[in-house]
Amino acid sequence: MSFIDVFKNIPQAELQLALYSTTPQQVERALQRPRGNLDSLLALLSPAAEPYIEQMAAQSVALTRQRFGANLGMFLPLYLSNLCANECDYCGFSMSNKLKRKILNTAELDSEIQLIKAMHYDSILLVSGEHETKVGIDYFSNVLPQVKRHFNHIAMEVQPMSIMDYATLVEQGLDAVMVYQETYQRQTYAAHHTRGKKKDFAYRLETPDRVAQAGVDKIGLGVLLGLDDWRLDALLMGHHLAYLEQQYWRSRYSISLPRLRPCTGGIEPKVVLTDRGLVQMICAFRLFNHELEISLSTRESPALRDNLFPLGVTHVSAASSTQPGGYSNPDTELDQFDISDDRSSRQVANAIMQKGLNPVWKDWERAWM
Ligand code: SF4
Repeated sequence: MSFIDVFKNIPQAELQLALYSTTPQQVERALQRPRGNLDSLLALLSPAAEPYIEQMAAQSVALTRQRFGANLGMFLPLYLSNLCANECDYCGFSMSNKLKRKILNTAELDSEIQLIKAMHYDSILLVSGEHETKVGIDYFSNVLPQVKRHFNHIAMEVQPMSIMDYATLVEQGLDAVMVYQETYQRQTYAAHHTRGKKKDFAYRLETPDRVAQAGVDKIGLGVLLGLDDWRLDALLMGHHLAYLEQQYWRSRYSISLPRLRPCTGGIEPKVVLTDRGLVQMICAFRLFNHELEISLSTRESPALRDNLFPLGVTHVSAASSTQPGGYSNPDTELDQFDISDDRSSRQVANAIMQKGLNPVWKDWERAWM
């Protein structure tokens, strides 16, 4: 049993129809009983919920403060490599892009670690393109102990792996795995993933099951907003989350809501998600799931990020580089995508404090353990 067995029985066309025929009365009912209710999530993601965004935002702020206090966890991506054996038409690392390719060696990794530590981060997200042979389990097993010596919390956003490989990395100190489906709409998925292992929609969809079975503490889901109807993708991600929480109740969960950004050889969004739509989505997920961690990357502008910090978000990155070796050599052009908020980590921390929130650099939970 995995999510694919559930997924094939989800009536996507009916859900899409329901999203666009939701009435204000259904939204009002959803606002009374949003927690853990997929029908309510549908209503809150629908166009009919747009006039209720202020009400949703007020509830979302209150629930987030209740569960997470006034804290925003700070994390930073560390790109290990930009090699990739896949072709995804929205990504600068796609195999056919003429780009200088790089895998960090021990000395280069150390230099990145020192610079990131100097910015006070204790939570790191290791990222790489998907290249099983050159940047696979052997490479990760070498890298993890070196990284773990400096960071209490390690998350990874790399290619999907086997249960055994994830279990090996858990023993070495891996805390979280982010694996984004990009879109839950099969035809759209096929159109954007044209070469390499990532073409296999089902294998990717089953990855969070393997991650949970390997005993990884936290699992991150995400969709790339702009590839197709964002309301439907968000709702299907909600179904995925609900399944995982029921099946693997020991794990913690997070979501990421990245909007499509410009990159080398990239594409234009098919569907534009407005700032207001992004707010609606964050609030809908907070009302649906009070424990869910929601992360916000530097893809969004400083002004929008500042307004989103209090709304329901729990983790933010700042001063990110999206290229291997980018903290040591910021001027090389190996980026995965362009970032929008290029403020320093200190400037972002100040902006967070101005909203009455605390930027949290340390993983206190591990310290207690
Ligand atoms: S999205 Fe991931 S798999 Fe696709 S080209 Fe970029 S790095 Fe490779």
